[in-house]
Amino acid sequence: MVTTTGSNEFDVVVIGGGPAGYATALYGASAGLSVAVVEREKMGGTCLHRGCIPAKEFLETASVLRTVAGAKEFGVEAGQPVLDFSVSQGRKQKVVDTLYKGLVGLMKGRGIESFIGSGQLLGGGRVRVAGAEESVELTGRHVVLASGSVPRTIPGFDVDGTVVLTSDEVLSLEKEPASVAIIGGGAIGCEFASMFSDLGSQVTVLEALPTLLTGCDDDVVAVVNRSFRKRGIAVHTGVTVSGHSPNGSGTTVSFGDGESVTVDAVILSVGRRPLTEGLLADGSGVVIDERGFVQVDEHMRTSVEGVWAAGDVVNTPQLAHVGFAEGILVIKGILGEPTIPVEYGRVPWCIYCHPEVAFVGMSEGQARAAGIDVVVKKDPFGGNSRARIVGETDGLVKVVCEKSADGSAGRILGVHMVGPWVTEQLGQGYMAVNWEATPDEIAQFIQPHPTLSESFGETVMALTGRGLHLG
Ligand code: FAD
Repeated sequence: MVTTTGSNEFDVVVIGGGPAGYATALYGASAGLSVAVVEREKMGGTCLHRGCIPAKEFLETASVLRTVAGAKEFGVEAGQPVLDFSVSQGRKQKVVDTLYKGLVGLMKGRGIESFIGSGQLLGGGRVRVAGAEESVELTGRHVVLASGSVPRTIPGFDVDGTVVLTSDEVLSLEKEPASVAIIGGGAIGCEFASMFSDLGSQVTVLEALPTLLTGCDDDVVAVVNRSFRKRGIAVHTGVTVSGHSPNGSGTTVSFGDGESVTVDAVILSVGRRPLTEGLLADGSGVVIDERGFVQVDEHMRTSVEGVWAAGDVVNTPQLAHVGFAEGILVIKGILGEPTIPVEYGRVPWCIYCHPEVAFVGMSEGQARAAGIDVVVKKDPFGGNSRARIVGETDGLVKVVCEKSADGSAGRILGVHMVGPWVTEQLGQGYMAVNWEATPDEIAQFIQPHPTLSESFGETVMALTGRGLHLG
């Protein structure tokens, strides 16, 4: 049990030290509140130890390998690159450990008290912390539930960490599997597919829905699909997985209409479920909905006065930055400041497969399904000079606008990107959508040349009816 002062009474007690929990704590401490965080494993949560950071680190390894393999085209003779996965693992862990140390130091520096143990809300602002050796009771004027989520599994696929894996196990593998079946073609599934394909594994993606990356714009999905197939990733959509038969060193996965694939490993990427086991004592009064999420209103208040919840444990997009935003909202609410609820339909999404995907707001299909008349423009990266320079021309920028009464492009509803470094380019699109700006307004901004972000500028200019390169 770690505690740095004797007092067990706080303005805010947070259960869970992942992005939602530590953002709540850091923001609260910056505002002068006394804050305790209860974490049963390590500060940083899924994101730092089993999610965003290790996954992106491995995707960067994949990118380095791809770049070296393609170096010859630039006249750089580097030979055929060879992967030493143990070095990659070591680097990943070093990145995670450095960030972890930084986070712990930051929290300590802000005067946040850390308690290592399992937290349980008892009621009346009391939280029991069951540590390895002792238990302690904390009291918070406010309690924030930020216990996060864990990977979902499917019947018939018992996770053994060797042949059947979830994201938790994948990111600490000692060796890359020669062949892998990924069940689920959502964001995490596509990132793993892209990563293992670049690392040299034979990859099969099995997705029950009709497309990969459900929720993304159709044009974006088409680019990812084409790229995956070109790279030899076998993509099966609209197929149900019925089971698997282990064969000693691997397993044969059955799917669809009598089809099967034999692989070294299966990765379950079928979403995440909220983690509330042991979180609430009987009679805490906090309502859990039928899907297991802690129920909150738009200000993150649970059914119990003074108890709030944020992050993956509530039914909102399961993204670290959404957890940050919700944690900030909680603290503002505690301080009695005016709060603006998170607009979940306009949060930024980034998917770090190759090619990368980034979007905000409505897709063309979603806008049309909502009965909105739209004006749409797309600019393929093939016409972008920087994309030609870096040799990554697969992809496009697409902007979806509401059609004005005169037929011109009005308010920007959605910005969708797929291609090189788009996860670093979404910022302008995010601002445009959330500011409810029009193409006329955004087209005033100058884009530096030559940059990949010129494609966004060009698309918006074209929507004003006066594109430089795009009609
Ligand atoms: P968590 O990060 O799950 O943290 C909850 C913490 O609470 C954990 O540390 C847990 O140990 C602790 N806890 C639980 N119960 C208790 C208890 N009773 N007492 C004490 N402690 C408890 N999101 C992005 O935005 N971008 C990405 O690129 C991205 N990539 C991802 C890649 C992968 C492979 C995965 C799995 C996820 C990814 N995510 C990404 C999602 C992101 O990791 C989560 O949305 C985020 O971690 C949720 O934060 P959280 O604080 O709500 O929960």
